Amino acid sequence: MTGHFIPEDLPHHIQHYIDGRHVDSAGGETFDVLDPVSNGNYATAAAGQKADIDLAVAAATRAFKDGLWPHLKARGRARILNKIADAIETRETKLAELETFDTGLPITQARGQAQRAAENFRFFADLVVAQVDDAMKVPGAQLNYVNRKPVGVAGLITPWNTPFMLESWKLAPALASGCTVVLKPAEFTPLSASLWAGIFEEADLPQGVFNLVNGLGDDAGDALVKHPGVPLISFTGETTTGQTIFRNAADSLKGLSMELGGKSPCVIFADADLDAAIDSALFGVFSLNGERCTAGSRILVERSIYDEFCEKYAARAKNIVVGDPHDPATEVGALVHPEHYAKVMSYVELGKSEGRLLAGGGRPAGLDTGNYVAPTVFADVRPDARIFQEEIFGPVVAIAPFADDGEALALANGVKYGLAAYVWTNDLARAHTFAQNLEAGMVWLNSHNVRDLRTPFGGVKASGLGHEGGYRSIDFYTDQQAVHITLGTVHTPRFGAS
Ligand code: NAD
Repeated sequence: MTGHFIPEDLPHHIQHYIDGRHVDSAGGETFDVLDPVSNGNYATAAAGQKADIDLAVAAATRAFKDGLWPHLKARGRARILNKIADAIETRETKLAELETFDTGLPITQARGQAQRAAENFRFFADLVVAQVDDAMKVPGAQLNYVNRKPVGVAGLITPWNTPFMLESWKLAPALASGCTVVLKPAEFTPLSASLWAGIFEEADLPQGVFNLVNGLGDDAGDALVKHPGVPLISFTGETTTGQTIFRNAADSLKGLSMELGGKSPCVIFADADLDAAIDSALFGVFSLNGERCTAGSRILVERSIYDEFCEKYAARAKNIVVGDPHDPATEVGALVHPEHYAKVMSYVELGKSEGRLLAGGGRPAGLDTGNYVAPTVFADVRPDARIFQEEIFGPVVAIAPFADDGEALALANGVKYGLAAYVWTNDLARAHTFAQNLEAGMVWLNSHNVRDLRTPFGGVKASGLGHEGGYRSIDFYTDQQAVHITLGTVHTPRFGAS
């Protein structure tokens, strides 16, 4: 390992941000935050409890009921959203350094996150300004139209992979819609979220519209989910956590948006451009350290090219540069936390009995400390193997052969998840037919993971419920009130008239 990069002005204590003020937990609780290269505690963070969530929801409720934000014209909100995007961009370098330090993501991949986060705000600014709502006319008889209204206080609960970008993905549409928010970031990675308060202040977002409570899922997250004053929860995280949140949100009947786990297939037919498919299948599972919800973590390859594919793929995987996340040459950095590292390593060990190890298989040589895993490739993995079925969320991939389209489809769909899928073939009809039959919320044909912000984002089966993206996000954060008026004379059955 080279010298450990420590960002300038690294905070040693991270607070909540409630009603425009940086505060500690009412009861003074804290938790330790580690960096994934040294695994040392670099900071403490305020550990939010129910009392802190109550304060944050009270502030967000005041800002919603008594404040200007929900009543601003779309153009007024859009102006502030664009200023938020500008403020994010001016922090691009800082943000990338903090994100890399806290998450272990390679710096070159962290850099793109600020741009994407800013783009989220600009996109939703444009969308609300251009938005039209339905009017349904029955000429001479009735006029019906939709009034769109922000729902209220939105609870936003986010995971630790690409934390800032995923927070922006919820904050931008929630704010664009006129909601006020309480954000509960992931406890492994609270650092980059501490930039939001300064960004929103610089953009003149009114006080109390944005509130942030750090803390553990079982305390702060749980209190937010159960709070009767929070009608919406937008959650991204593990499927099992999503299930718990569903149960806990039942009593107060909340609106839920669930972006959950994945075990996405990358299906490569013999007629595909093999070099392009290999580039994509490598990037698809080893970028972002494999800690990517849409990772193509199962590669299914047509039998006639299987051996050639495995050989070429493994040679490239062995060549991937693993190392200090701050080094621009690094392609795979350090996994986020020792607990997650132990989980991924347990799958690496399990894989040795479930598949044929072609690359990796443990800690890379020369990296004796930090949460490093060598990009690991298992071939000949059977569909009932745990490494084929379960989300590992690290740089580990399972490869299996298939004989024909039918078997490829059965393998692709034969898991509980249904987030993304990638298909490589030069046969146009096969590509579209196969895509239609895939049980996946998103399919990329001869491409990977580049997404237009207008398109629906979300999974089926255990990968989620509801779709975000474009108007679908606005639909989640707004109520659509239908207003009806009769034109001309009203004809009403005259009860009690005779
Ligand atoms: P996680 O479920 O452990 O935690 C996510 C968030 O939920 C954290 O903020 C956590 O504190 C909170 N939480 C935990 N228990 C809670 C509870 N009982 N009530 C309320 N909140 C609670 O997930 P993670 O390990 O941070 O993230 C990795 C997972 O996220 C993977 O499964 C990955 O696939 C998924 N993910 C999905 C998408 C998507 O868009 N589908 C995107 C990114 C990540």
